[in-house]
Amino acid sequence: MNYLITGGAGFIGSHLAEALLKHGAEVAVIDDLSTGSILNIDHLKPNRRFQYVLDTVMNRAVMSEMMDRADVIVHLAAAVGVRLIVESPVRTIETNIKGAELVLELASKKKKKVIIASTSEVYGKASKIPFCEDDDLVLGATNKGRWSYACSKMIDEFLALAYWKERQVPTVVARLFNTVGPRQTGRYGMVVPRFISQARKGEPITVYGDGTQRRCFTFVGDVVQALVALSEHPGAVGEVYNLGNTEEVTILELAQRAKGLTGSSSPIIFVPYDQAYAAGFEDMPRRVPSLDKIHRLIGYRPTLGLDGILKSVNEYFEQRERRIA
Ligand code: UDP
Repeated sequence: MNYLITGGAGFIGSHLAEALLKHGAEVAVIDDLSTGSILNIDHLKPNRRFQYVLDTVMNRAVMSEMMDRADVIVHLAAAVGVRLIVESPVRTIETNIKGAELVLELASKKKKKVIIASTSEVYGKASKIPFCEDDDLVLGATNKGRWSYACSKMIDEFLALAYWKERQVPTVVARLFNTVGPRQTGRYGMVVPRFISQARKGEPITVYGDGTQRRCFTFVGDVVQALVALSEHPGAVGEVYNLGNTEEVTILELAQRAKGLTGSSSPIIFVPYDQAYAAGFEDMPRRVPSLDKIHRLIGYRPTLGLDGILKSVNEYFEQRERRIA
């Protein structure tokens, strides 16, 4: 099989490329390195079944050629990270909507399969736990930049499902829940690499709000295995799947665990949301996926719990520091 991964030099994309190469697939990636890094794919370059192009997914000519050679496109290229989204809403909306639009339009012409990576953000402020794929999606006001991300991803989902219904383009939507693991950077706001890095450096660990908000963190290795299985399963086409973990933790407890794991003496400090992001910022108190649907289809069960995930992230930081030293 020939795969094209948009955003393939990113955190999730690079793990997916690695997993697919291990499966024996041919893998091409396109990435403009806006948030990805060439370091994420350096180790894949010697593989003869691997090819990479440094360009934006908005380059129609390049994308058209790359899609000709692919059987399946996994569309991961997107503006990601709450910090980036709040600071650059134009870039978020444009990248997410225009990128998916072009991928789907070209896939329709060329009759290719597309896996669209969506996000648990689309559930917004929904309060019925756990979140099921057919539940209502509850977003906030348009003057709160955060919701532009959820909204842009909802458009991507609508488009993917519309292309399947109207034009028979085989599409699958995967809603990813707080994917974490080695190679993720804290630069765009993601909490796990931020806390581990702060703890390792002895810097204050910055808990936003009162730390009672809860999340379920999913190991990137579980996410990429599931994406491969979804891309191979004919029954996934035209459907939306949650992809995550159901083990919940409060953000304050996460800070304590990061501190304990690294043996750090960092203080844990509380930062009000309007200081951390912007005035009027809205956070979600809880976000838990129902995994029934994806389990029924591909037998998905997360394999790594939070302790294992934090250990893998800490080891990654350790290795990176050793490389730099
Ligand atoms: N968070 C935090 N400190 C940080 C970064 C994030 O307390 O330095 C919180 C954030 O407010 C949210 C949770 O951690 O409640 C998860 O944030 P992340 O950006 O990783 O993902 P989100 O679930 O918000 O998409």
